[in-house]
Amino acid sequence: MKEIRFENVWKSYGKTEVVKELNLTIKDGERLILLGPSGCGKSTTLRMIAGLEDITSGNLYMNGRKVNDIPSGKRDVSMVFQNYALYPHMNVVDNITYGLRVQKVPKDEIKTRLDAVLEMLKLKGYENRLPKDLSGGQRQRVALARAVVKKSDFFLLDEPLSNLDAQLRVSARKQLVKIHEMYKQTIVYVTHDQIEAMTVGDRIALMNEGNLQMLDTPENVYHRPANIFTAKFIGSPQTNVVDVEYQNGNVIIGKQGFQLSQMWIKQIEQSGVDQFAFGIRPEHIEMFKTAKENALKGIVKYVENQGSSYGVYVDLEGQEIIAMSEDKNWAEGEVMYLKPMMNHIHLFDRETTNSIGYPKEL
Ligand code: ADP
Ligand code: MG
Repeated sequence: MKEIRFENVWKSYGKTEVVKELNLTIKDGERLILLGPSGCGKSTTLRMIAGLEDITSGNLYMNGRKVNDIPSGKRDVSMVFQNYALYPHMNVVDNITYGLRVQKVPKDEIKTRLDAVLEMLKLKGYENRLPKDLSGGQRQRVALARAVVKKSDFFLLDEPLSNLDAQLRVSARKQLVKIHEMYKQTIVYVTHDQIEAMTVGDRIALMNEGNLQMLDTPENVYHRPANIFTAKFIGSPQTNVVDVEYQNGNVIIGKQGFQLSQMWIKQIEQSGVDQFAFGIRPEHIEMFKTAKENALKGIVKYVENQGSSYGVYVDLEGQEIIAMSEDKNWAEGEVMYLKPMMNHIHLFDRETTNSIGYPKEL
């Protein structure tokens, strides 16, 4: 079982706790994304798996074996870093196969693996080039190829694509998924980029300040965020979250309110929570020029062109709400009416910041 299991793992540097009580099982053969803002402990977590950082307390298991004291070289990992270093004096083929030659892998086997990876990563025709004669994207592919040919059980990547421009990133992402479908290693992939997380991940582990915030599929992380941090971190522009009151089936924001559907009323009543925050994504708000039942009156503050759509910033009872509009049909100072889509709202316990959960009807 190519499984990785963190059991109550803490990592501190002196008094600074960088990873806190991490309990996380990464499944055999999955692509697990470690996502979170800069400094939240992603690289440290990955480096503990790689055996490049000691564990302060707790246990780490790989392949069912406790590896706290097992050196990196005996963990069957291959790694790709953001600042991949190729050997400058070796050509592409030698860079890719160096590790295998050191391991004394038979020549035929090296050739088979090399051919496959050159093909897959579109490096045919560049075999004899030195790194200095390659573009950034090609060098990145060589670094990936070098890690892939090792056929390790565990493939660890730390922001491997962040040096590439947007177009190359998209194609490298696809290649990576293809590689994985062929080799089925267990992949742990660190990124701070939520789009990368969504497109590459089978599951996402979202971290903040050393704490695991949520571990779930991209769909659930987007549609069913476990807490306010997750709701705001995933999605762009970010989820609107405002403090609200709940009264007799109504959500009250300032002097206005809208009625919840029956399933939400039931959910609130089951939750035992009494102080709420209300969340809605900008893409889940309907906008109207005239008053509508259950729509809240606001004033347009400004409109931002986002290419495929427009972000409309609205003052709602003194709070700023962002809504997405397909047309540019909104002017500063204009009165408008916002209606949250009832199947896409989020309710949180203001005290714990945790979601109150989602109605089973959804
Ligand atoms: P991420 O990869 O999520 O950006 P890191 O895991 O690299 O974050 O770092 C997490 C935190 O640990 C950061 O606040 C960083 O400053 C701190 N840190 C990392 N390495 C060390 C170290 N060797 N000594 C002290 N603090 C460190
Ligand atoms: Mg990092």
